[in-house]
Amino acid sequence: MYDDDDVLIGVDPATRLPYGVSRYYASLAEHDDPDSDPIAAQYAPREAEGDTSPLESSDPIGDRQYEVTPRLVHHYRDRALILVNDRCATYCRHCFRRHFTGHGAGRLSAGELEKACCYLSDHPEVREILLSGGDPLMHGDEELFALIDRLRTVRDFLIRVCTRMPVVLPSRITESFAQSLSYRLPAWVVIHANHPREITGEFERAVALLLRAGAPVANQAVLLRGVNDDAETLEALFRGLQRNGIRPYYLFQGDLASGTAHFRVPIERGIELMRTLRRRLSGLALPTYAVDLPAGGGKVPIEANLVRTESDRYIFRDANGAERSYPREIER
Ligand code: SF4
Repeated sequence: MYDDDDVLIGVDPATRLPYGVSRYYASLAEHDDPDSDPIAAQYAPREAEGDTSPLESSDPIGDRQYEVTPRLVHHYRDRALILVNDRCATYCRHCFRRHFTGHGAGRLSAGELEKACCYLSDHPEVREILLSGGDPLMHGDEELFALIDRLRTVRDFLIRVCTRMPVVLPSRITESFAQSLSYRLPAWVVIHANHPREITGEFERAVALLLRAGAPVANQAVLLRGVNDDAETLEALFRGLQRNGIRPYYLFQGDLASGTAHFRVPIERGIELMRTLRRRLSGLALPTYAVDLPAGGGKVPIEANLVRTESDRYIFRDANGAERSYPREIER
């Protein structure tokens, strides 16, 4: 069943999680067994998604806790996040925003946008707006740029467009999109590539359009078991990003999203991988290995903030200096 020419949409009957994959992204898989193909693993549902732990959550990074008006999340002092729509061109099985993504909330309404603008005009400390979702590029160009233009009537925000489109549907990045973006700088584009096989000619063309438009491009990868949890794969990914002018910004530890334990890699293993990569890659190609601490504890670099390891948990220092834990027993 297809809802348009590109995206297959359905609901996995076992887990009730939405699934969908673009024809383009599915074509990158060498076969459709998620247990052995790193591309299929990112879009094909597996039975293991039904195994959830009380330590996991559908909102592992605490969006709801920091939602100040409907769909406006203000967690970090100088940045706020808008959940532009709930749709994606491919639904990642490791999605950390599964309480929202693909569940029918639809597009940001005019009323929600006005409430957000009202809040932002009262909060001059906010200098940067992250457009996310879902994927904000599921909006058409006209609607997306009208949203940016309305936000800029409040303040000259730096805009960060968080999108997986160059990876899962690169044809969405057109000359016309890039040109419209070039009129609205400063704007950054933050993408989400996890495997070197995602760096195709189509991907490179899409990224080149964004860079030529004047929008810097950064990547946030997630460390995923069976996808990229070995030094060779990560090295090829980061070299490929750097070669294309993309900053490898973060490598995230898997969030405690419900039903994703089969993807998570032990933090000790992540630290070991970073040590290996540091011997092989220049600083320009090395991301920061970071964790979003559970229950809205915020994002912290792992190697700099790990205070100690206990039998059942890791203790980190958050941005305010408080100790917070990330469990160990759910790692497999
Ligand atoms: S593109 Fe982002 S929001 Fe959409 S499913 Fe993937 S991780 Fe979730």
